[in-house]
Amino acid sequence: MPSDEKYKIKDLNEWFNDIIFKAELIDVRYNLKGFTVFRPRSVFSISKMFRIYEDKFNETGHQQVMMPALIPEENFLKESDHIEGFTPEVFWVTKHGDEDFEQKYALRPTSETAFYYMFKYWVQSYRDLPLKTYQRANVFRFDSKATKPFIRGREFYWYESHNIFETLQEAVNQVYEDMQITEDMLHEEFGIPFIFFKRPQWDKFPGAVDTFAADTILDNGRILQLPSTHLLGTKFTETFDVKFKDKDDEMKYPFGTCYGPAISRIYGGMICVHGDSLGLRIPFDLAPVQIILVPLYFSDFDNTKLEAFCLDIAQDLDKLGYRVKIDDQTSKTPKERFSEYEMKGIPIRIEIGPKDIFSGTVVIFRRDLNEKKKVDVADIFDEIKLIESEFINNLRSQADEVFEEKIITVNNMDDLKEVIDDNLVARVPFCSIDMDGKNCFEELKAETKGGDIRGVRMDVKEVPEENDVCVVCKKKAQSIVYVGKSY
Ligand SMILES: [Zn+2]
Repeated sequence: MPSDEKYKIKDLNEWFNDIIFKAELIDVRYNLKGFTVFRPRSVFSISKMFRIYEDKFNETGHQQVMMPALIPEENFLKESDHIEGFTPEVFWVTKHGDEDFEQKYALRPTSETAFYYMFKYWVQSYRDLPLKTYQRANVFRFDSKATKPFIRGREFYWYESHNIFETLQEAVNQVYEDMQITEDMLHEEFGIPFIFFKRPQWDKFPGAVDTFAADTILDNGRILQLPSTHLLGTKFTETFDVKFKDKDDEMKYPFGTCYGPAISRIYGGMICVHGDSLGLRIPFDLAPVQIILVPLYFSDFDNTKLEAFCLDIAQDLDKLGYRVKIDDQTSKTPKERFSEYEMKGIPIRIEIGPKDIFSGTVVIFRRDLNEKKKVDVADIFDEIKLIESEFINNLRSQADEVFEEKIITVNNMDDLKEVIDDNLVARVPFCSIDMDGKNCFEELKAETKGGDIRGVRMDVKEVPEENDVCVVCKKKAQSIVYVGKSY
């Protein structure tokens, strides 16, 4: 990492707020707090991410539906934990024109109570199961915490997948499939490192039996929650009277799961994870412009030759399917133009000057490594193919390295406090993530001034050492948990 990387570590907030505006990803001037206008450059990448995810859902046997955005209050009131958890955040629609509706309608904060209302009509027999569905939707939550574009908005864009199964084991398997999908998408495709945790019982999705969530760690040591998947058991199927006749003609309640990757938040996380002091670094596949050609005009040179030379290269790249642009900002210096394209995260820049026409070479700059290389014109396409194939792998391995460095193993409260004070994430022995560990959690949170227990790791099984005791109550530790502050 270059030393100027430190700028980002010093103040990720400032960097983020600055870059999303300068790179024209968002506009915050809309006159409604917590609601962001997404501009074409971010929408391009987010739409791509939606499509990549959608292919994955289809491949894994999910069927796409579209549910209404309004949910009648009577649906919402059915599941008590759910309503208790979500009510403070719900936007209610109460009127049409000047007339009050007979009942209120929730502007969906999540759609369990819409899907399960319909599942009772769609499922009668074991032959109708498993039922794996998803929808692409915008959802609305009145988050009282400080809003942040992409990361925490009062309206956000996600997929929500709702599935029901004959057996508990199949539902558990679905949770594992959701975790694998997250690995394939976030880590493999988008280069974002994370750990999948089983959340403590006091930190579950309202209405879930168990909650599992992916957390990434940002440069400032803060934890950002990414997709979560929930084992719902028969809670929602019982509440909504979704039943099926099994092979022995017995009526049973199916077991549910739900999974909610918020694409707009994943995009925000991706920007934080990959960006550097020069600005954005957008994965090659997701970049609105993948290759920018910068002709370097000279006043005593016939620049039409240069233009023709660039156009030839651009047309060939375009034919190969790349998204290419020729820079035409002739009033700016080359340095200004280079900085701008680096800031916007364009993966590849080709610089072409008059001399290059005679020598038959160009200079190629790649944003994954921030490196320049002189390349023969005949080799441009091979070089670009090579960079394309290495790009996400480089972003991913750089991000993985930073991520791993943020996790520190400790086994007592003093060291834990120090780790949290240093803006890092601690790995500590703890008594239990069941409800009987909640008192220890409260104390831990107070002692560390806001450190949160994220849960027990799901991707690798971690067991405490023989002599490990809970950092709070000193009883024999049952779990290894991760503690950090959230972004
Ligand atoms: Zn304890």
